[in-house]
Amino acid sequence: MSSPATTAYDAVDVIRAKRDGGELTGEQVRWVLAAYTRGDVADYQMAALLMAIVWRGLAPAELAAWAGAMTDSGERLDLSGVGRPTVDKHSTGGVGDKTSLVLAPLLAACGAAVPQLSGRGLGHTGGTLDKMEAIAGWRAQLSNAEVVGALRTVGAVIAAAGAGLAPADRLLYALRDVTGTVESVPLIASSIMSKKIAEGTASLVLDVKVGSGAFLPSVDAARLLARTMVDLGAAAGVSTVGLLTDMSTPLGRACGNGLEVDEAEEVLAGGGPADLVEVTLALAREMASLAGVAADPADVLRSGRAMDAWRALVAVQGGDLSAPRARASTVQHVLAPRAGVLQSLDARAVGVAAWRLGAGRARKEDPVSAGAGVVCLRKPGEPVTAGEPLLALHTDEPRRLERALEALTGAWSVGDDPVPPRRMVIDRVA
Ligand code: URA
Repeated sequence: MSSPATTAYDAVDVIRAKRDGGELTGEQVRWVLAAYTRGDVADYQMAALLMAIVWRGLAPAELAAWAGAMTDSGERLDLSGVGRPTVDKHSTGGVGDKTSLVLAPLLAACGAAVPQLSGRGLGHTGGTLDKMEAIAGWRAQLSNAEVVGALRTVGAVIAAAGAGLAPADRLLYALRDVTGTVESVPLIASSIMSKKIAEGTASLVLDVKVGSGAFLPSVDAARLLARTMVDLGAAAGVSTVGLLTDMSTPLGRACGNGLEVDEAEEVLAGGGPADLVEVTLALAREMASLAGVAADPADVLRSGRAMDAWRALVAVQGGDLSAPRARASTVQHVLAPRAGVLQSLDARAVGVAAWRLGAGRARKEDPVSAGAGVVCLRKPGEPVTAGEPLLALHTDEPRRLERALEALTGAWSVGDDPVPPRRMVIDRVA
């Protein structure tokens, strides 16, 4: 891929060039990322460069160099020995999005291998590892050899991305998080794709969320993000497809770590909320097609084989599904003020409420509660009676309820109009 930087530049010249709308050379891009990762470019200089990129963007050649340098900042996993076609899925982050928990065992049961190397949640969207850690005994940290071993035996693994994968992104992401420089299509695209390319998967399905609960709420921005990531994947030899899916209201009913594991298990058992099943199967079909496996994911889900793969996946990492799952000590309901139809339920507000109840973290090192979260007992379009519970707020610390209720103020409404069904898959980018 990209060759290592050989020339030393002055960080201030690089910042100025980008600030003034110039195009950086591949050499400059590789130099600045390598020097930053070594500690030779200071955080405040990189923060200034990132802000210039937020405003000025990256031209295609700069973006290719940036993503390549991020991937090359660490190791690349070799999954050639797993004996099955590899395919992964990445979501740009949503509220109540537990599809990874279903897709990893489902695609394993279809005959593919799913190397789902994930991070933890930050802000109002939950992280897959936090959800899995609601299972007693389950261990997120695996060595590379254990990852490959699980892919060979089970066909899927959900684990923490090791420190050796795209270390430049780890540093940059932490800096972007505290400098208001997350919301940029080239920066998000290169961040996500560098990790997925380094993970070694042969193919990838991207679930690009659209709506209030997403990073980039507009359809146009989501489409551009999908296009950018699909092109980066193709350039790196990873067959990539993006689906734009609705994130205006939470996916499924459960938002919160252990609550989401329960709901993922309902889907694996052949049930679960219709919107969650629809998105999961749309992603599963794309994954099966990229991996070249013939099985129909809907048939495999019905057969119970995905549930068997889930049990195996959890057991390999020490998880005990027979142990009782943590439950929050306090549950408070939000009631319908009158009879009618639930008109709307804002995804971001529910995500923030779940986070404030203890399901998410404000800083990387904060613990999360396994039992905390919000269950949407009614979803938009469903009829409600006066005084009926609409939302159940679960927490271990009742003092958190007030701020969670505040987040939900104005986030839902009951009216008389019928609500047209949502289109869950908005677009496909290949
Ligand atoms: N997720 C990532 O991994 N990186 C981003 O920049 C945004 C979301």
